[in-house]
Amino acid sequence: MGPQRAARFARLGVETVGQLLCLYPRGYIDYSSPVPVAAAPFDAPCTVQAQVLAKSAPVRISGGRKMFKVACADDTASLALTFFNSPYAVDKLEVAKEYLFYGKVGGGFSAREMVAPSFLPAGTSAPLTPIYPLTEGLSSTVVAGCAKAALQQVEDIPEPLPDALLEKYRMPGRAESLRMIHAPASLDEAGQARRRLIFEELFTLQLGMLLMRGREVAETGAPMRPVPVDAFERSLPFPLTGAQRRSIAEITADMAGKSPMNRLLQGDVGSGKTLVAAAGVYFAAQNGYQSVLMAPTEILARQHADTLSAHLEPLGIGVVLLTGSVKGKARTAALAAIASGEVQLVVGTHAVLSEPVAFHNLGLAVTDEQHRFGVRQRGLLAAKAVRPHLLVMSATPIPRTLALLMFGDLDISILDELPPGRQPVKTYAVTGAKRRDMYGFLQKQIAAGRQVYIVCPLIEEGESDLQAAITYADEVARPLLPGARVGVMHGRLKAADKAEVMRAFKAGELDVLVSTTVIEVGVDVPNATVMVVEDAERYGLSALHQLRGRVGRGAAESFCILLTDHATDAVRERLRFLCKTNDGFAVAKYDLDTRGPGDFFGSRQHGLPTLRIADLAADTRVLKAAQAEAVALLRADPGLKAPAHALLAEAVAALFEQSTSMN
Ligand code: ADP
Ligand code: MG
Repeated sequence: MGPQRAARFARLGVETVGQLLCLYPRGYIDYSSPVPVAAAPFDAPCTVQAQVLAKSAPVRISGGRKMFKVACADDTASLALTFFNSPYAVDKLEVAKEYLFYGKVGGGFSAREMVAPSFLPAGTSAPLTPIYPLTEGLSSTVVAGCAKAALQQVEDIPEPLPDALLEKYRMPGRAESLRMIHAPASLDEAGQARRRLIFEELFTLQLGMLLMRGREVAETGAPMRPVPVDAFERSLPFPLTGAQRRSIAEITADMAGKSPMNRLLQGDVGSGKTLVAAAGVYFAAQNGYQSVLMAPTEILARQHADTLSAHLEPLGIGVVLLTGSVKGKARTAALAAIASGEVQLVVGTHAVLSEPVAFHNLGLAVTDEQHRFGVRQRGLLAAKAVRPHLLVMSATPIPRTLALLMFGDLDISILDELPPGRQPVKTYAVTGAKRRDMYGFLQKQIAAGRQVYIVCPLIEEGESDLQAAITYADEVARPLLPGARVGVMHGRLKAADKAEVMRAFKAGELDVLVSTTVIEVGVDVPNATVMVVEDAERYGLSALHQLRGRVGRGAAESFCILLTDHATDAVRERLRFLCKTNDGFAVAKYDLDTRGPGDFFGSRQHGLPTLRIADLAADTRVLKAAQAEAVALLRADPGLKAPAHALLAEAVAALFEQSTSMN
């Protein structure tokens, strides 16, 4: 093809014939089973058979374009066709003849219409026509033509999947599947090809995840004995919840096992994950091992260090903070204490992994709120210790399907019980018109001695987040809250200044914290009772739920107020859902259903390769099969070294190479 067309294909990520063949159709035009016009679905394209009644003269519309109207009907209803700038298409339609039209039927009941449908004379039998993802200047027909040509020219398409699997799941071979998905004889055939290609994609992904972990073959480098954790439990000022106790039992059983723990501890905000991790640290320390706990930000690391040393130091476990702001002599001392084994717990950010920290004997690594503990981090961790136990903590309730993909065959502990005495946070969605009233409410809360978080409007183009926060504090928050002590947090602050603002807020020296960066996940200030989010429509529900989790941590009734100046129906409906439920799992599911997994953690937050065909939310059954088979295959051929698996090994490498280059 010529350079211009090639450039357009490149925009779709297609630069080789192989990539072209992996550009799968989104669906097919099926002319074989038309539906009556009156019965056409409103939300999905379909085929109808209708007679052309009249063609009207073209009308000139804005931009110099021409609009053509064609009136049609079948026995059930009339149908108005609209074409733009396509006299040739319209010329082909003859009055009084019947045609098959494919497109989306819109308009009201009495005025059904189709815009720019594809069509064929009635009675012609046409093969299924694939519909491809479009990019400017590349029509679906062009892509289909190129795919067809590629299929004819490619002679030998190798088969990466073992024969046994193809037989077991009755899947077509790769060459066959590619033909079937680009030029299917029937929708059934297309479906079979699709299933196989999804299986192949998920199987490859699972193999990669499992190989990365090496768990099938390796024993842990930190073997531990089962020791009681009662002393830890007794030292706490409150009893553990049942869910905490169960999770601690699961974690300590893992750590006393042969293979390294790989466990996700999932619990809604405020469910008490930190103490569960602390029990793990205690267990490791009783066994003579050190632990490291990694938080996503300095502020959180500092908070964890404070909390954990309060709980653990009385039990004889030394805790040290190691972040970028720990400098000079303090740093040298910390590094020495870590190397000698004098401290048993190191708390830091993820940077701990990339720094030249020599552990005495690291046995447990815990990450908090870090969904991207991916290939690179695992590699860095491996350099610090031989196969330590790994605990990943998350308040984002990751649906099981996604969790399986992100972490391989990890185990999951769930904290499905909040500590007693927590009240659900009352949540309200209001429009900007109510901003003044809302500030009146804030005033009352502050007068009652409570504290308030306000998440600033998101930054406009050309504005810095410093300006945004300062402008908001000066022009909105301070004037509307006379006498209140307002602190400002923004991305430009140095780590030490951020820590100081947080400290002042925690100590009650500030009434209001205006923040641009989404308030550090996990910050624990029990006296804060109101969370206000400006521009709430711009966040996913899971993100809003996380923000809401910053309040409702103490005994007082707490509130979350979602402000929006762009309340469309869709926005209202989404926010209303959050007002109705305090259940993080329900929220995550709603997000996943309405926004899809791509958006789930923000763009590419999960660090997974981009999937070409599989849909994580929909293809759970195939995923489970693919996962079981990947485990079985690696059991038989641990390193994927057998010559028969060479192609698979290549496919795995290619998939993950593509993802690491993107991350
Ligand atoms: P998260 O799961 O969001 O990380 P934290 O570990 O920060 O939750 O705990 C939230 C708050 O609940 C903390 O103030 C903690 O001290 C408190 N907490 C944890 N476990 C219990 C418990 N069993 N009973 C009472 N309060 C608890
Ligand atoms: Mg936490």
